[in-house]
Amino acid sequence: MDFKEHLTIVENFPKEGISFIDITTLMQNGEAYYAAIEELTQFAKEKEADVIIGPEARGFVVGCPIAYSLKKGFVPVRKKGKLPREVISVDYGLEYGKDSLTIHRDSIKKGQRVLIADDLLATGGTIEATIKMVEELGGEVAGIAFLVELDYLNGRDRLKGYDIFSLTHYQ
Ligand code: AMP
Repeated sequence: MDFKEHLTIVENFPKEGISFIDITTLMQNGEAYYAAIEELTQFAKEKEADVIIGPEARGFVVGCPIAYSLKKGFVPVRKKGKLPREVISVDYGLEYGKDSLTIHRDSIKKGQRVLIADDLLATGGTIEATIKMVEELGGEVAGIAFLVELDYLNGRDRLKGYDIFSLTHYQ
């Protein structure tokens, strides 16, 4: 399937100069959404993942169906102040200023193989922060799966040494 046919590029959103890749047009097509998740699920299976994790909110759209399909657990990564129990957190840089991501302290067990899922790899900042938390909890990053990778932002360089699978690429 040509997945790019189902993605929509929106120029100058959310601001001037950004080409925004809108995945909602893929999600709203049942056949395309299913086929995309199937490919990512195959990668997660090959990597022998014990648990799937994803950052809010689009990481849930990608990670949850993979977890469901493999009968594995799903662990949410959320912005500060959203998770109700004890968390660990990590600061990460944004274009302007910084933000924090959090994860429940008991969500990943030592030695578990963790598959990280998200919609899109841009600069890699979000996933770099996610990896830090997984490793702090003793998890092993088995692989990282995306629907889209923006090759021109070189996020992959920031995630050197990790096994990355992206369904589609934009140069
Ligand atoms: P990053 O931390 O820079 O890799 O990007 C974090 C998140 O921002 C991605 O997972 C996307 O959800 C979103 N994002 C960044 N750039 C774009 C883009 N050009 N189109 C759509 N979403 C984007």
